[in-house]
Formats: sequence, structure tokens, C-alpha cells
Amino acid sequence: MRLVLLGPPGAGKGSQAEVLSERLQLVRIATGDLLREAVRTKTPLGVQAETSMQRGELVPDTLVTAMVLERLPSTVDRGFVLDGFPRTEGQAVELDAALARLGTPLDLILDFETSPAMIQWRLAGRWICRPCSINYHVTNRPPARPGLCDRCHGPLEQRADDRPETIAQRLRVYQTQTAPLLGYYRRRGLLRAVNGDLAVETLYQELVALFRGERLWPAAT
Ligand code: AMP
Repeated sequence: MRLVLLGPPGAGKGSQAEVLSERLQLVRIATGDLLREAVRTKTPLGVQAETSMQRGELVPDTLVTAMVLERLPSTVDRGFVLDGFPRTEGQAVELDAALARLGTPLDLILDFETSPAMIQWRLAGRWICRPCSINYHVTNRPPARPGLCDRCHGPLEQRADDRPETIAQRLRVYQTQTAPLLGYYRRRGLLRAVNGDLAVETLYQELVALFRGERLWPAAT
């Protein structure tokens, strides 16, 4: 299955991408995680991306698109779930062209419809483990030991771009640059709205029903 998760920051795309990739063995491509790792390890891409990310703005299309396209050939057998890409129409067009070359078009685009109150609540309580790219939440998904990652036991931190003023900028960027993609995919009949306010497991069960209805659910699962 080849999926794109669309929705504002705090819509729960990352949690759902994690569950879908684990349970359906899909390759997870989360551009925010990849970019944060590039910044952390100070690669040339990370150095170029850092300022835009700190400001809550988009990293230039050419950089992000190259990063995603180079990973697509390795997804041909297993399928993928894209979290955070595409975020502009330019990225969507490049993605379509690359997938057409591989003969593996997108199956579905999920639009995570999420209320402003839920977005604020999720982002304000979010803590991440950078090396593991795992998101926690103080009340929703607390780590077993406060402040430490369940997997690597390293310290958790809040994302610099989860500060209130940067969140507001990221939401504006979503509305102006990414939300127009909904029309792009709706016109092609690939868009399905899902309720981003639901808890992770509840939404996952709804997605399973949706995939079954679309005849996308793997027969052996
Ligand atoms: P995320 O973790 O998906 O919220 O992404 C964090 C930040 O990484 C965004 O605010 C952007 O600065 C950058 N970013 C992630 N994905 C993209 C993308 N597809 N295009 C441009 N910038 C991106």
C-alpha cells in the first residue's frame, strides 16, 4: 500500500505512520524526522534546512524532494507511508512523476481533520526522543520513566518549533502552502478525510475499516 498522510502539525500523522509502518511493514518516510536528524548530525542538508525549520517555514522544495525521491526505489516491494511530504503542489507533482517512473502510483491520501483545541493540546504536551524519532505526550503517551525514552533510555526534549509563536507560523504555512494539496488530490479521487481528533488506536481501527472498504487491505493480514 502507498499512502500519504496530510494534515496540520499535531494532527497525529506521526503516531499513525508509526503504527501503520509497524503493523503493515510499510516503509515510513517522515521528512520532519529525516530533516531533524540531518540538522542534529550537521550534514550539508541539515545546515541548509536548519534556519527554515527554526522559523516554522518550509525547507526549499528541491532539498526535500531529492531526499524523498532517493528513498522511493527501496519502497517498491513493501509500499510506504509518507508523513509530512508532500507539503506543496510542486512536491506533489515531483512525487507523482517519480512514482509513475517506478510504476507504483499512490493508493490513497488521508486528510487528518483535526480541531484547533486538539492541535494545541497535543503540541504543548509533546516530547520527543531525537535519536529514536519517537513522540511522547505528557498525558496521552507518557514514557515509562519521566523524561526518558522507553527504547534507548536517553533524555527526551521538546521540539524547538513547538513553541507557541512557531506553532502559529507552522499552522499558517499549512493553510497557505499545504492545504491547497487537498484539492489537488480530491480532483484525482484519492483523498479520504479521517478524524484526527481520535486516539491513536481508535483511529487505526477506523483506517483498517477504510482500507478494507477500498480493497487495499492485504489479504493475509
Ligand atoms: P514535521 O516534523 O513534519 O512537523 O516537520 C518539521 C519541519 O521540517 C517543518 O516545519 C519544515 O520546516 C520541515 N519540513 C518537513 N517536511 C517538509 C516538506 N515536505 N517540505 C518542506 N519542509 C518540510
